[in-house]
Amino acid sequence: MSKKVIVQKYGGTSVADVKRIQNVARRVVKTKRQGNKVVVVVSALGDTTDNLIDLAHKITYNPSDRELDMLISTGEQVSCALLAMAIHKLGEDAISFTGAQVGIITDTSYTKARIIDINAKRILDELKDNRIVIVAGFQGITLNQDITTLGRGGSNLTAVAIARVVKADICEMCTDVEGVFTADPRIVPDARKIDKISYEEMFELASLGSQILQPRSIEFAMKFNVPIHVRSSFSNKMGTIISKEVKAMEDTVVSGVAINKNEAKVTICDVPDKPGLAAKIFKDLAKADINVDMIVQNVSRTGATDVSFTVPTSDLNKTIKVAKETSGTIGAGDVTVDNNIAKVSIVGIGMRSHSGVAADMFETLARKKINIEMISTSEIKISCVVKKELGAEAVKALHAKFKLSKKRA
Ligand code: ASP
Ligand code: MG
Repeated sequence: MSKKVIVQKYGGTSVADVKRIQNVARRVVKTKRQGNKVVVVVSALGDTTDNLIDLAHKITYNPSDRELDMLISTGEQVSCALLAMAIHKLGEDAISFTGAQVGIITDTSYTKARIIDINAKRILDELKDNRIVIVAGFQGITLNQDITTLGRGGSNLTAVAIARVVKADICEMCTDVEGVFTADPRIVPDARKIDKISYEEMFELASLGSQILQPRSIEFAMKFNVPIHVRSSFSNKMGTIISKEVKAMEDTVVSGVAINKNEAKVTICDVPDKPGLAAKIFKDLAKADINVDMIVQNVSRTGATDVSFTVPTSDLNKTIKVAKETSGTIGAGDVTVDNNIAKVSIVGIGMRSHSGVAADMFETLARKKINIEMISTSEIKISCVVKKELGAEAVKALHAKFKLSKKRA
């Protein structure tokens, strides 16, 4: 009998209704009966979190973040209790906990709190008593006993953090897809499931728009070396293992293509070309807690330059307000917005040791007559902003160019 400590996280679609909760219960019980110690982290049923947020916005456009967390943390409390009952029905002992009950202590950044500490004792004691432990994902509590949530998709972070403190052998992310794919299969039908990928690449893919895992959870897993297995809740097939980079991974120049249609481009026109003004613009945006992604400053011949940058569309209104104010103070011109963009990216650790990848990407887009509006690169990724309606075509062309549908050795 294998004697492993396994953390299993089930996402919202995996526990969307009674039948699915019963399916999860059977999987958990099976894992337990194979001789393992099991901790389960659950998300809220189906679209519960979205629905709760909509409900809040029916009361007010601008709900207090503390009250929002109070509200949306309830979703996970429902699913963990129901799962415990379903497991009891199958004859196993299980006990459910809120984040607060297992001492998931966070800072006070409501709606995107950071975990400061987890008190593993309660979980370990229950495991010792041979129980299945179920923890409500996505939530924690501040030192002042206020409930917080960990950002959308935050159950992933709960799972990874718990996997670390209970020293789990594996953290299984059970979801509605079979693993991480080389591209979104809805865009590229011959996209391939990736067997193994490094934390770095997965972090980039997740940050760049692949919706499988919350980027913060991967960052955490990378920092503490928590092995992750992304797999389907509805089959027993192997999914994708996310782990430390190993030598063989370097041979893969490009591992995946991602697309993000949730950014907008903002341009501040006619910024005087003087030292300190870029600093002022981006400091003002940072103060407003706006996450700026790509930045381009056009060459100036006339003494003024246009500064363009992208932000998540969810921050767009706030950004326009801040950018207009800053533009006024520094004597710049109009603020314009382009919502009609897609950011297409290729990711691979092999880029570190192979040259010419950027040229290949640009050439592929040029052949398709797709104009590149912005470019940004890091050691292991290249991103291009293109017109939104050309995004899918760009992804398909790049997937083909880098031969991603072919299985690698
Ligand atoms: N229920 C939360 C959300 O939908 C957390 C999660 O699913 O991980 O974002
Ligand atoms: Mg959810």
